[in-house]
Amino acid sequence: MALRITDECINCDVCEPQCPNDAIYMGPQIYEIAPERCTECVGHHDEPQCKVVCPVECITLHPDWHEGQDALMAKYRRLTGQP
Ligand code: SF4
Ligand code: SF4
Repeated sequence: MALRITDECINCDVCEPQCPNDAIYMGPQIYEIAPERCTECVGHHDEPQCKVVCPVECITLHPDWHEGQDALMAKYRRLTGQP
């Protein structure tokens, strides 16, 4: 699954630089996650880094992006240009 930022986000800017996939960006009102770039940090870290640093715990699983470990790893390989 990809992760999603809920509207409880306080725009603290902490998560964006932590994302190894450049999946986090400032949206019209709050930070957002591009689900096609989010691997839940699979391939880079043991835990989703944005979730670890968010002070208000407003990052949750995206309800519409269901992916298992294999799919997340395949996404990681695609994003990093690996075969
Ligand atoms: Fe980026 Fe990892 Fe958060 Fe996904 S879980 S948005 S890859 S920091
Ligand atoms: Fe929003 Fe949490 Fe990211 Fe801060 S760390 S910008 S509160 S999602």
